[in-house]
Amino acid sequence: MASDQRPLARSLLERELEDFGLDDEELDEAVGFALEVRDLAQGVAEARGDGAAKAVAGAARLLATNAIDEEIRADRASGDGPACAPGCSACCHLPVSVTAADVALLLAWLAQQTDEVREDIERRVAAALPHATGARPRGPLACPLLDPDAGTCLAYEARPLACRGCFSDDASRCVPGGTITTFVLPQVVARSAAVGARLALAEHGLDSDCRDLIVALGDALGSRA
Ligand code: SF4
Ligand code: SF4
Repeated sequence: MASDQRPLARSLLERELEDFGLDDEELDEAVGFALEVRDLAQGVAEARGDGAAKAVAGAARLLATNAIDEEIRADRASGDGPACAPGCSACCHLPVSVTAADVALLLAWLAQQTDEVREDIERRVAAALPHATGARPRGPLACPLLDPDAGTCLAYEARPLACRGCFSDDASRCVPGGTITTFVLPQVVARSAAVGARLALAEHGLDSDCRDLIVALGDALGSRA
């Protein structure tokens, strides 16, 4: 049984969501959602026994994606939907913060790819790593999982929670390497789900910190900066 993590969830979310100006009630809702994600993630992870991080990621992905899809469907129905479309990829040139659960899901996806795709991504991770670690200037840095020709995410089904919450209503304001003005609710859902995943990871004695996607992939793949 999980300890009472509500105060911890609240303090993590106060930090994560400080840019969005949420009132107390909205913050409470975010905390409630994070704990819902934690409960499902823990239940699934316990049932699995091993592969806990991947199980946590699967549960967080399920709840976050359902909530975000519902919101985006409602926005589209009211004519206020996002401008996001396949091939639009400025947001894939920003740093992405991930948990061990996100990475576990990406590694499982990578293991299912052909040698050619896997080696190509490993090469791109190794090339991006010095920029992501600060050894070389970062500038606008394409995500190693971005298909450079199509401008689409190669790992779309396994993309991190942070990417699932990124939507904008105006692609012209999305500039590679700049700041993307995103829809607030999907961001709140994605960040709350990530906090829920972190709580579940911690309960399983796993690494619950957030890291840069490229650095985390570099470590997981044994790339050299
Ligand atoms: S967030 Fe911006 S760059 Fe990313 S897909 Fe949407 S409109 Fe395009
Ligand atoms: S994981 Fe996919 S969606 Fe996320 S930044 Fe990389 S290419 Fe874009």
